[in-house]
Amino acid sequence: MSIDTGRFRAELEQHRDRLQSTIAHHDIGGASLTEETGELMSSSSDNHLADTASETYERELDEGLEEDAQDQLRDVEAALQRLEAGEYGTCSVCGKTIPVERLEAVPWTTLCIDDARKLAR
Ligand SMILES: [Zn+2]
Repeated sequence: MSIDTGRFRAELEQHRDRLQSTIAHHDIGGASLTEETGELMSSSSDNHLADTASETYERELDEGLEEDAQDQLRDVEAALQRLEAGEYGTCSVCGKTIPVERLEAVPWTTLCIDDARKLAR
């Protein structure tokens, strides 16, 4: 196999660090959001409803982002484990070699393009 695993490992580790800091930052953001809501509620009751609605919406968006980051983090960690096990670059469904161009585009993928398309349907 001619896959440069060292290069992909570095890329995956970098990606993992980025995701972990995204998730960590989210937690800090969540804390300050709660503080802001507390201030709004005690200082004014005029546009109280509108504020609460928009903050709920933002919070839901935020949670969606965190879920995405956690999903991706799982994929990245699984890919790193496959790298350690010497299975990296092999489709987990059909066992065929995943083309390097695809790994370059999506380093954490565990599926060849055919199986990825089948699962996306
Ligand atoms: Zn496959």
